[in-house]
Amino acid sequence: MTDTVLEYEPESAGALVKEVARRSGQNLSACYQCRRCAAGCPVAEETGYVTPDRLVRLILLGDREKALVNELVWRCVSCYTCGTRCPNEIQTARITETLKKMSKEARRPPLRHKVAHFHHSFMKAGLRWGRINEIEFMGAYELKNALKDLARLRFKAVYDEMVYQAKFGLAMMKLRRMHYGFLSTKGRDEIKRLAKKGRNRA
Ligand code: SF4
Ligand code: SF4
Repeated sequence: MTDTVLEYEPESAGALVKEVARRSGQNLSACYQCRRCAAGCPVAEETGYVTPDRLVRLILLGDREKALVNELVWRCVSCYTCGTRCPNEIQTARITETLKKMSKEARRPPLRHKVAHFHHSFMKAGLRWGRINEIEFMGAYELKNALKDLARLRFKAVYDEMVYQAKFGLAMMKLRRMHYGFLSTKGRDEIKRLAKKGRNRA
């Protein structure tokens, strides 16, 4: 873990805490930094100095920049382990989702493009049909990644990914785990309405 000094920014602290608490539905002020959340986080070793407890701390201190741009926001896998362990029932997964939205609204580029592409492709595919069709969803995801790599002239990365996906697809076919069928559901309008309601509330 890198030693990083967290600084209190009194002018922005109150507004930031209020905004994140309202949008995430989490009572951040209840956090007393016991670090039980950090002890169980499966990605904590990959996120540098920002563990779940420190993310809450950054918000309470009013450091908007570090709260919006850090590895935990992009690497959190929403496993909810931290919330299960927290004596104050603070769900960091809700906080990381909120910060991702705030980061997007502030027009900051995603720290992890693949995470943003995965999320976008998954939501789009799910909302269109009410079910995830793997070929459509993975195709959209891989296309976004390839276009991003091509724009950066990373041709080898595109080639390596194509080879990897081809091998992976073949292995899945052999195991009969590839789903070619088209899935849809009658309730997809309801799912769209729920998603819209969620967006409006956030
Ligand atoms: S477990 Fe809860 S109270 Fe303890 S540091 Fe984490 S968020 Fe704060
Ligand atoms: S929900 Fe996110 S922050 Fe919490 S333990 Fe899981 S990966 Fe870590």
